[in-house]
Amino acid sequence: MTAVRKAVYPGSFDPVHNGHLDVIERISAMFDEVMVTVFVNSSKASLFSAEERSSMVREATLHLPNVRVEQSHDLLVRYVRSRHARVIVRGLRAVLDFDYEFQFALMNKRMAPEIDTLFILTNERYSYLSSTIIKELASYRADVSALVPLASERGLVDKFGKEVDRNGQ
Ligand code: ADP
Repeated sequence: MTAVRKAVYPGSFDPVHNGHLDVIERISAMFDEVMVTVFVNSSKASLFSAEERSSMVREATLHLPNVRVEQSHDLLVRYVRSRHARVIVRGLRAVLDFDYEFQFALMNKRMAPEIDTLFILTNERYSYLSSTIIKELASYRADVSALVPLASERGLVDKFGKEVDRNGQ
């Protein structure tokens, strides 16, 4: 029997956007099972609750049968071990992400030598995308429909109200 190849893609997903989705689609083709895990980080204020964030990711990934969406408050490597996975996936947008991600990956390696971090380069179409910039745009009721899945768009409209018009004017 061959082992099931599992990967965990952790993040805040506040909310999930097309850059995240692109990564999820690519890794779902590389692994037998992908856990997209919404982490509840006490030091990071989020716009959406963990339940809201998870349900947006869940709705946006319905077309990917090997993707499971979970939530965790735990230390990442402890969570990954509990799921019998060996790979943590992180997305890299630019050099800006690198320092932090490098430090985070080395710390995780030190705590759990059997677990590897796999970095996936952003699709250049989405390299400028972040949940922060999307929330900023949505707070001005700009149209973000080309940047996020429908579930996130709906969630943002619930929080901030509907766009004024399609050109953001
Ligand atoms: P975190 O708080 O863990 O950084 P995020 O939800 O912001 O959570 O991001 C989750 C993961 O997705 C991170 O690895 C991040 O680098 C990656 N990511 C975020 N935006 C993009 C993007 N536009 N393209 C590719 N990866 C991205």
